[in-house]
Amino acid sequence: KLHNTILELKGNIRVFCRVRPLLPNESGAVSYPKNGENLGRGIELLHNAQGYSFTFDKVFDHSASQEHVFIEISQLVQSALDGYKVCIFAYGQTGSGKTYTMMGNPELEDQKGMIPRSLEQIFQASQTLNSQGWRYKMQASMLEIYNETIRDLLATNRMAVQDVGASKYSIKHDTNGNTNVSDLTIIDVTSINEVSSLLRRAAQSRSVGRTQMNEESSRSHCVFTLRIFGVNEGTDQQVQGVLNLIDLAGSERLNKSGATGDRLKETVAINKSLSCLSDVIFSIAKKEEHVPFRNSKLTYLLQPCLGGDSKTLMFVNLSPEASSTGESLCSLRFAARVN
Ligand code: ADP
Ligand code: MG
Repeated sequence: KLHNTILELKGNIRVFCRVRPLLPNESGAVSYPKNGENLGRGIELLHNAQGYSFTFDKVFDHSASQEHVFIEISQLVQSALDGYKVCIFAYGQTGSGKTYTMMGNPELEDQKGMIPRSLEQIFQASQTLNSQGWRYKMQASMLEIYNETIRDLLATNRMAVQDVGASKYSIKHDTNGNTNVSDLTIIDVTSINEVSSLLRRAAQSRSVGRTQMNEESSRSHCVFTLRIFGVNEGTDQQVQGVLNLIDLAGSERLNKSGATGDRLKETVAINKSLSCLSDVIFSIAKKEEHVPFRNSKLTYLLQPCLGGDSKTLMFVNLSPEASSTGESLCSLRFAARVN
């Protein structure tokens, strides 16, 4: 029996699926329609002897390079310079390639992920627009949401990474649709070199968190935000765009063998915030009057950048392993719901 889910492109939400290559000692379970109209958009999964097929806006197989993937999102990234609010998410179980897709290795040309490539493109494009009178100011911030608590990944004082004071990092939206997170480090970026050093700083804080706090990074959402303020000196025209690049917490469900205590609390919090995200995107797509932004920190933080004329792209990252088919099916269904 073949469950066929054909999805139409709806509103401003797009879903791209990316299947990472097999690592040594893994055997695969995901395939792609060989020909026909779904070429490059279809994916088939065999789970418990049943076939499932899905269609998305784009499907990247194991052979897709970081550069290839970036080409497909570069227009969306560019639109932040024109004043759009853009969110790009990576969703999937731990080990499916979210961090590789979003950050990759910023130091290696062929392994650079979407964050470093987006920043490079925005810098290049903004320089080109200089000749037309445009002057840009850009501000970057990077935070982590773990168990509904915000952490500043760019804090110079490392201890601040662990500071969970109640009044710290509270989220406020002003009437102009700007978001302010109190005490969050905001860095003016004026050159591409500054960007590289701030990405290194963020990677360092994330790995400090990892060793001290037991692999928490796979259980937290990581949100990189670039705010762009543009003024045209000739025409006085102004634009304000925002680019959010979000490496979501691993979507795996609770193992039946039973997590307890903190681990249980943690998994429940992740599942809750991921389902809040899906509820929000779903109700925006259905043009419902009430969108439940306030049900999680992540959706509340991103509220001004979701819906309206903002643009959203979700990567659903999949592991090709045969042992991951259950989780892959869940991820594909999640993506199908928001698409
Ligand atoms: P996640 O962030 O979803 O937990 P990772 O991005 O850490 O997963 O990826 C898991 C492993 O697979 C890493 O070793 C990563 O380098 C590798 N990997 C993921 N995607 C790719 C890819 N497209 N090409 C090559 N290696 C990849
Ligand atoms: Mg990761």
